[in-house]
Amino acid sequence: MQRRVILGTGGTIAGRSDRQGDNVGYVAGEVRVEDLMARIPALSDMSLEVEQVDQIDSKDMHFGLWKRLAERVAHHLAREDVAGLVITHGTDTLEETAYFLEKVLRPNKPVVLTCAMRPSTALVPDGPQNLLDAVNVAGCVDLSGVVVVCAGMVHRAEHVVKVHSYRVDAFDSGDAGPVACVEEGEVRWFHSSRRGSAYAAGGTALLEQVLSADALPRVDIVTSHADTDGGLVRALLAASAVDAAHLPRGLVVAATGNGTVHRDLEAALREAQLRGVRVIRSTRCARGRVIPDAKNPLRDSAGLSPVKARLALALDLLSE
Ligand code: ASP
Repeated sequence: MQRRVILGTGGTIAGRSDRQGDNVGYVAGEVRVEDLMARIPALSDMSLEVEQVDQIDSKDMHFGLWKRLAERVAHHLAREDVAGLVITHGTDTLEETAYFLEKVLRPNKPVVLTCAMRPSTALVPDGPQNLLDAVNVAGCVDLSGVVVVCAGMVHRAEHVVKVHSYRVDAFDSGDAGPVACVEEGEVRWFHSSRRGSAYAAGGTALLEQVLSADALPRVDIVTSHADTDGGLVRALLAASAVDAAHLPRGLVVAATGNGTVHRDLEAALREAQLRGVRVIRSTRCARGRVIPDAKNPLRDSAGLSPVKARLALALDLLSE
């Protein structure tokens, strides 16, 4: 039961620059995952299996790759000889992929996403340590669910968010905090519960719906800000009067503060709601959640950030 599978998808961890030490002018998703692993001596005597699922910059993540990844992860999770999985991924949309896999697969074993903020050609790349830490977390027999490992910290898929554009400790779990840290290969837990959501052997109904869909139902995100007039939402409504395909099935508003929305944008969103568009309020605040308010006609995001609320709504719509 000690075998771990490493799935490569690209990202800065697999990035290469023509000029050694250039942390900005590089191309993501260039180096194969087995070549990244070959640079980490501690991995050489472990039972590891490698699969290059794709090689992309995660800013370009798309439903097709999410589907393929979900299928490959489900395949390996169902194997008795596999203890856990590691997925190398770009940092830009890592929290979305982590949340997607958690929702769709409900894994009963560790699925550990890891990444880097510096390309493999950096003077001091952060990828090798992150990958080694992730492999160690994937070997935790009492851990289940999707987690993210970066800069020595372990974050749950539901809470993790990229909070820094450049620093190597780019991720945070907001008020929930990280669940563990990794110190010299040892995982030190901050909480007693290491169980994620329950896994239905053989895949969940949602997984089957995802695998047979061509696309997720369209859900867009709009931001509430000073001096808005809701014009973007009204333009969508006007376009959909000509061609119904322009009408999104859902809209998430990245609202101000505790879910407050500029009155003109709110009026446009209420109009969209009357046209059958599902509208969810999240917050553009870096921390905290929208406190549920039964009197508000626009539902809150149950603590999810705008990008995760978008995914949750799209998956809900898919399964209806
Ligand atoms: N653009 C890169 C990606 O998300 C950034 C990174 O990995 O840090 O693939």
